[in-house]
Amino acid sequence: MSTAKRRLVVATRNAHKTSEIRQMIGDRYEVMDANDFEDLPTVEETGTTFLENATLKAVAVSREIDGVVLSDDSGLEVDALGGAPGVWSSSFGGEEGNHARNNERLLREMQGQAERSARFRCVMVLAEGGRVLADFSGAVEGRILEQAAGKEGFGYDPLFAPEGGEKSFAELGAEVKNSLSHRGRALQQVVRWLENPPID
Ligand code: IMP
Repeated sequence: MSTAKRRLVVATRNAHKTSEIRQMIGDRYEVMDANDFEDLPTVEETGTTFLENATLKAVAVSREIDGVVLSDDSGLEVDALGGAPGVWSSSFGGEEGNHARNNERLLREMQGQAERSARFRCVMVLAEGGRVLADFSGAVEGRILEQAAGKEGFGYDPLFAPEGGEKSFAELGAEVKNSLSHRGRALQQVVRWLENPPID
């Protein structure tokens, strides 16, 4: 009997996202990402919702490669900022993917703010051959800390404490983060779907 794992290609060049997804399901799937393929197009995230952007990424990449593609569009919604940075989380500080600048801007905008509730959201889309198979979402509620704490994780993790405690995701570490996170919650549904796809 073959023991080959099924391949799952994540439509991202963000190695942090891939690494978390691999930690969560790497025993069941061979998790790859856009960095493992040459000449994949860079997908412009022109949507205004997580679902639109996740769909753009999954569909575009699945046109180029064989097999099932998974995309992740995610971000932080801060209530005192009217839901910002939201879909623009990765460029909030003025430069795409510059987490230090993003965190600096967030701290600046939240200075003196008593209302600190926030959530991470993640929308995942599965696609194959340019066609959407299904979409999933996950969220985790929490609050924005007064100062950065912890060294693990990525992005806004040092400034976000999930509900029920004072420690940031960057202090809690990968295992705890993955058990609670927006990405973990969306991914649990993805795995359930892959293992038991609906019959149409
Ligand atoms: P995307 O690549 O357009 O989905 O942007 C995701 C951005 O949201 C990242 O660059 C981070 O700024 C933020 N983000 C998403 N998920 C996380 C997380 O798990 N921890 C910290 N920041 C995150």
